[in-house]
Amino acid sequence: MPTDYDVIVIGAGTGGYVAAIRAAQLGLKTVVVEKQKALGGTCLLVGCIPTKALLEHAHALKVVAGAKEWGVAGVASPSIDMGQVQTRKDRIVNSLTKGVEFLFKKNKVDWIRGTARLTGNGGVDVFEGEKQTLRARKEIIVATGSSPRGVPGIEIDRHRIITSDEAVGLREVPKTIVVMGCGAVGVEFASIFNRFGADVTLVELLPRLVPLEDEAISAELAKAFRKQGITSHTGAKVTSATASADGVDVSMQLGDGEMKSIRADYLLVATGRGPVTTGLNTEGIGLTMDKGYIKVDAMYRTSVAGVSAIGDVITIDGPHPQLAHVSSAEGIITAERIAGQNPPPLNYDHVPACTFCDPEIGSVGLTEAEAKARGYDVRIGTFPFGVLGRAKMAGETDGFVKIVAEKKYDELLGVHMIGPRATELVAEATAALRLESTVEELIRTIHAHPTFAEAIGEAAHAAHGAAIHL
Ligand SMILES: Cc1cc2nc3c(=O)[nH]c(=O)nc-3n(C[C@H](O)[C@H](O)[C@H](O)COP(=O)(O)OP(=O)(O)OC[C@H]3O[C@@H](n4cnc5c(N)ncnc54)[C@H](O)[C@@H]3O)c2cc1C
Repeated sequence: MPTDYDVIVIGAGTGGYVAAIRAAQLGLKTVVVEKQKALGGTCLLVGCIPTKALLEHAHALKVVAGAKEWGVAGVASPSIDMGQVQTRKDRIVNSLTKGVEFLFKKNKVDWIRGTARLTGNGGVDVFEGEKQTLRARKEIIVATGSSPRGVPGIEIDRHRIITSDEAVGLREVPKTIVVMGCGAVGVEFASIFNRFGADVTLVELLPRLVPLEDEAISAELAKAFRKQGITSHTGAKVTSATASADGVDVSMQLGDGEMKSIRADYLLVATGRGPVTTGLNTEGIGLTMDKGYIKVDAMYRTSVAGVSAIGDVITIDGPHPQLAHVSSAEGIITAERIAGQNPPPLNYDHVPACTFCDPEIGSVGLTEAEAKARGYDVRIGTFPFGVLGRAKMAGETDGFVKIVAEKKYDELLGVHMIGPRATELVAEATAALRLESTVEELIRTIHAHPTFAEAIGEAAHAAHGAAIHL
């Protein structure tokens, strides 16, 4: 294995592995250093892929449980087999990590298993068995990602007080589970375990579920969760959690000040993720850091020449979403810039966000509150999925599409949806924002019938006060 490369990538998550492939496509001799035994990072191993695999099982159980409605005979009291769920999930994860290995071979990207440490002047030491020293002729890309972040006073024992890393591998359905934190990860697990048959309690410090979404989306999700029997406490705080061999005692202070205690099988701490830089020697080589994150400019250059950083480990001016597709987009831009191209910077206002809870959420662009805060004269159009023939056929009638636009130029500013296939439908909205579409253009775009996508066209009509089917 050579020791000199054009590009050294540290971390083989969706940021690092995509950056490496793009760099290799552009003729740069590239190596990836990854400390895990499999490629793919958080997304493939314990994040996007395993959680969505579990959610597909939850959806399958929902369909089977509704067998009578579907006219399917011979199904008596269905339940979930966690052994099969985990086997299938592991098979999917394995095939995808092997897929990345194949892509590395195809693109002649070298992969070294080990823990990397920056030594300055293009140097990287790799520790795994014998120490190796690598040198980057052009650039080092740090893509070391993130890991679950706890909260002071709550000790994660990974047995009864767990993070998403453990939750994806549970081989039993908890009878009761408390989920602390109601961002995407928290509400997805709430949907999974509720559908599998657990008694789920959500606790969120902020006043609403999915606090980064448009307020109307949070309200609709709260309504849907209530209907499904999920208990949500917002404006509430877990004050203590004491684990024992067979459960955990969770105390919380509710929004009105009342204290409440719950004995649960598990407490899932889903309060966000923090940067991974331990042992990297970031300060040693002089990288500017901000609250533990590596500070970068709009082209992902750090404060040290020849070192870039991308993905969950970075901070940039303005909000930086920790999402797989964001890390990959940043990886591509970085590789192209290193190869001498001039890619345009990412517009973080146009990053789609998908939450795969039930009902699903797909959103892109400014929320109504954000648009108003930026001084736009805002116009709103909303259309419920339940009116659509396609939604009635699917038996998925909850939710709506909400369009946020501005009046002066009729420009589309944001699209927020909760309901069936919202995580797929958001692609159309993302393309429309990217193309700086007006609401009028969305109205004139023909939406095939009968589809869920009709709700987007109708919401555009509604923004002009002219929804046809309302
Ligand atoms: C439960 C869950 C569900 C999620 N669902 C979604 C989703 O549906 N959609 C979405 O877009 N995002 C989702 N995410 C977020 C997504 O997984 C992350 O945003 C994404 O993985 C970030 O990619 P990354 O390359 O920056 O970092 P990571 O994927 O964290 O990869 C970093 C890699 O660097 C390696 N590494 C760290 N330090 C070193 C070192 N010193 N030497 C060598 N290797 C090192 C790590 O082992 C790791 O493999 C989810 C996350 C979680 C936890």
